[in-house]
Amino acid sequence: MAFGNPDDDKLREECGVFGIFGHDDAPALTTLGLHALQHRGQEGAGIVSFDGTQFSAERHMGLIGDTFTKPSVMKRLNGHRAIGHTRYSTAGGDELRNVQPFFAEFAAGGFAVCHNGNFTNGMTLRRELQRDGAIFQSTSDTEAILHLIAMAKQPMFEDKLVAALNRLEGAFSIVGITNKKMIGCRDALGVRPLVLGDLDGAYILASESCALDIIGARFVRDIDPGELVIIADDGIKSIRPFDSQDPVPSRFCIFEYVYFARPDSVISGKNVYTVRKNIGIELAREQPADVDIVVPVPDSGNAAAIGYAQGSNLPFELGIIRNHYVGRTFIQPTDSIRHMGVKLKHNANRATFEGKRVVLVDDSIVRGTTSKKIVQMVREAGASEIHLRIASPPTAASCFYGVDTPDKHKLLAHRMSIEEMADFIRVDSIGFISIDGLYRAAGEASRNNECPQYCDACFTGEYPTSLADHENRDNIKQIALLSEARA
Ligand code: SF4
Repeated sequence: MAFGNPDDDKLREECGVFGIFGHDDAPALTTLGLHALQHRGQEGAGIVSFDGTQFSAERHMGLIGDTFTKPSVMKRLNGHRAIGHTRYSTAGGDELRNVQPFFAEFAAGGFAVCHNGNFTNGMTLRRELQRDGAIFQSTSDTEAILHLIAMAKQPMFEDKLVAALNRLEGAFSIVGITNKKMIGCRDALGVRPLVLGDLDGAYILASESCALDIIGARFVRDIDPGELVIIADDGIKSIRPFDSQDPVPSRFCIFEYVYFARPDSVISGKNVYTVRKNIGIELAREQPADVDIVVPVPDSGNAAAIGYAQGSNLPFELGIIRNHYVGRTFIQPTDSIRHMGVKLKHNANRATFEGKRVVLVDDSIVRGTTSKKIVQMVREAGASEIHLRIASPPTAASCFYGVDTPDKHKLLAHRMSIEEMADFIRVDSIGFISIDGLYRAAGEASRNNECPQYCDACFTGEYPTSLADHENRDNIKQIALLSEARA
């Protein structure tokens, strides 16, 4: 019996994208780029390359290092341009047929595409396209892009692409290649990240700048919210494809800074590690505690705990040791050891905790089940007091923009008051950073309540578009269930 992975009480990013145009080692560099983006999705990965004559595609379940390092796989990928995708799937969607990039052969040539994010009108589009004759091969929203392009009436590919992009609603960063070009696009609000890099004159698009670092590429800039870049042999062209060209204030996902992005990435000019440490400093100011040591829940609480320790002038200790060799799932032989789940990944060091009053720092609380087990473990290791400090405001609403969240009724902060959460997790106190504190840590004076600078909907319930409705969310679940029933 496979049982829950020890990470399943976290919000999950749903994908990383990478593309490179104009380099002889394009497929190998894409593999490395995806390896750097592995934290954005571990269920499966794919690469499509083009060698000037033909497209080649490889899609596999599992980690990049387990599949795309095999010579038998890599020798089938050739060419000087490639795109790749690493996927985290929602329930029922972890099948090979949903692994991206997707590819279609149009009359004017081939097109491969992948995306990070979520089309909030994905189900509506699917129904419309199916009604018009489209036959879907997968349950992934991304495939809709291909059908929209195929059915667009415009004669030129670029115009078809723009027409297709204008049908999409929600949050997305898209990367694609044709036999002549590479394209990259961010939704009008820029909710999900996408950066542009350069390696020896080759253009690179990636979800995060850490994917540029691994191949020694230079960071050029973030792709702007609502920007479509079209890269060809004669250079890069930037256009604004969306009908409403009035500049819309961007609403980048603030949770990328809290948890999703890698700490060594730079997004919108801000280093993620620095923001996380600032969060810890703000948290110490807002939620002080009279304790002996500050300990992170690794790895997600590390940077904020360092900030908390600095901000409160307390010793920082690595009291919880993380086992890095735990896979996504684990085979459990008997029910009797089911409760050991959290210990597969974390162990509390008695030498650190014995007789100590402790601040434990974590990035967020989702259902609260893992926090409760970790706290119990720290208490059993001898801590005399445990004060939990959280580097984000209470997560009380679901995300509809490409992050897998439980139904809001399962979120601890939706069900309970702060005091009730402390009782449930069995800590002496619990404290969250305020929404303004989070904005300050991200470099803002405070949250602009009239026009927030970020998407923060999972904390505030204020969704940036009116389309994040429960109907669409339910429809997405229905697709997953249908897919499970068919399998
Ligand atoms: Fe990010 Fe939360 Fe907005 Fe989703 S709802 S995009 S996780 S800030």
